[in-house]
Amino acid sequence: MGTVQMTALRSDASLLSVSNIGPVQCEVSNAFAAWARYGVDRAAQQLLGSPIARIETYGSYSCRNVAGTARRSAHATAGAIDISGFVLTDGRRISVAEDWSGGTSAEREFLRVVQRSACRRFDTVLGPDYNQAHRDHFHLEGVINGNSFCR
Ligand SMILES: [Zn+2]
Repeated sequence: MGTVQMTALRSDASLLSVSNIGPVQCEVSNAFAAWARYGVDRAAQQLLGSPIARIETYGSYSCRNVAGTARRSAHATAGAIDISGFVLTDGRRISVAEDWSGGTSAEREFLRVVQRSACRRFDTVLGPDYNQAHRDHFHLEGVINGNSFCR
């Protein structure tokens, strides 16, 4: 199975970096690159008045089971990415853990908009509204194939 290591992705104005990420399946990385530019960077410009400099992750490839189950997580095959936060070019940092409920109204809206836009590109998208295990990140898994599971 082909995987790629993402380093810098194209944004509207320049490049954005992705922190803490390992190898990712090629088609997932393509969906991620499109989401980063058209979903995240544009939402940040519109809602927060600044482009994105960096997307922070809890990584991609890790051989482990789904929390609380014996089932292998999609992370075991480098098919999923956990997103923890976003750093803007003006220096602001928007984190899922702190700003999903506690940020300004624009920051809260930004996080919901980027999650919804992920649901148009990934097969499974889980966030803080899904369960306690996802209170601090968005789980983006697989490439959309029909209806996505979006919570
Ligand atoms: Zn995950």
